[in-house]
Amino acid sequence: MVGFVLALGGMAGGQSAPSPTEAAMVKTVDAATPGAVELLEKLVDINSGTMNLAGVVRVKDVIAPQIEALGFTVRWNPMDKVGRAGDLVAEHPCPLRAGKCGKRLLLIGHMDTVFDAGSPFQKYEIVPGTNGRVATGPGTCDMKGGLVVMLDSLRAMQAAGVLKDTEITIVLSGDEEDAARPIAISRKDMIDAAKHSDVALEFENAFRDGGVDGVDAVRIGRRSSNTWHLETSGKSGHSSLVFGDRLGYGAIYELARIVEAFRTQLREPGLTYSVGLVLGGGKAVMDKDKTGGTATGKSNIVAATALANGDLRTVSEEQTARVKAKMEAIVAQHLALTDAKISFDEAYPSMAVTPASEALLAQLQDVNATLGFGVEEVTDPAGGGAGDISFVAPYVPGLVGVGAMGTGAHAVGEVVYLDSIPKQAKRMALLMYRLSEEK
Ligand SMILES: [Zn+2]
Repeated sequence: MVGFVLALGGMAGGQSAPSPTEAAMVKTVDAATPGAVELLEKLVDINSGTMNLAGVVRVKDVIAPQIEALGFTVRWNPMDKVGRAGDLVAEHPCPLRAGKCGKRLLLIGHMDTVFDAGSPFQKYEIVPGTNGRVATGPGTCDMKGGLVVMLDSLRAMQAAGVLKDTEITIVLSGDEEDAARPIAISRKDMIDAAKHSDVALEFENAFRDGGVDGVDAVRIGRRSSNTWHLETSGKSGHSSLVFGDRLGYGAIYELARIVEAFRTQLREPGLTYSVGLVLGGGKAVMDKDKTGGTATGKSNIVAATALANGDLRTVSEEQTARVKAKMEAIVAQHLALTDAKISFDEAYPSMAVTPASEALLAQLQDVNATLGFGVEEVTDPAGGGAGDISFVAPYVPGLVGVGAMGTGAHAVGEVVYLDSIPKQAKRMALLMYRLSEEK
């Protein structure tokens, strides 16, 4: 998973001792840890698979009052119109005037999980033989642990008396694992909030290289996730006439030509693309949800139609645009008497690494030095999937995955390293405090 490791910040400067305010926040987090783990267990035991709308609302009902108690105004925006539960927007305005509380912070995350109400994976449990250090359950690291980290860090700031002088917006989606379309509706609150923020912190699960005793990691980029659909057609007839001037090559050879050209001509660093479904024959129809379909044909025909779909993951929007153009050019070079067209669905954009996000990372490494945590690894954006921060990345620099650490996200058996919860809460409390102190 770790493609390259950058060492940025916190290396030469050495350790700067925490200020009295920072030391107070560290103490608060330590004292709150048993309660934080209890909250995690409670949240994990509520099934909130994306399509279990009532379950997502129950998670919201647990955390909304806790966010309100921190002095935020909380709003619930139902998303029934797009078939999802809704999103939570919480605002903590600067008491002076907008923009007068240092950096305006946007905290994002999600309340749903990939485990639906029928999943066999429903309960929080300590993993036997780990000395109580590792817990398993749906959403333990992705990302109910992150919700706990977020609350924990804000509480530490409140107890130290510094939360009141901050300008923070929290947006938690209820459908990160299966975002409703159109994005213009389902991600409107997140995008609007990004437009009046200076820094985004995404409390998604974080990576620890080497397992529970490994090295903590963070990311400042995420790849895009795009979906493409390919449809080819040809003249059908008896197979003995294939390659000739009456029938040409048929739809399946045309599809094979395109897919093979993708394989050999598009490869470049940071880019992957896969073909996940192919149908073809005399007739081929893909289901509406594009996860299956039907095809009919036989061995002695030239195929009339063929369909394929796949993905395209990129590290920048420049790469997306360039590769899409190359794919379109390949598609256009039809074999004799065939036709083909490619289309792309609305995508998760990429979050490219920028100088602003590198500067933010350096500040995080300074916090690590203060806390005596050592330098965090920076993982390759290519290693992970797309996420909500991608929608806000065009407007604000951000850190990806500042929530709980663990492994196995999206699979039965997902785990969280429990010590990462207070660790990340300390990091985020100090980082948010320092950002709010900036003029
Ligand atoms: Zn997640």
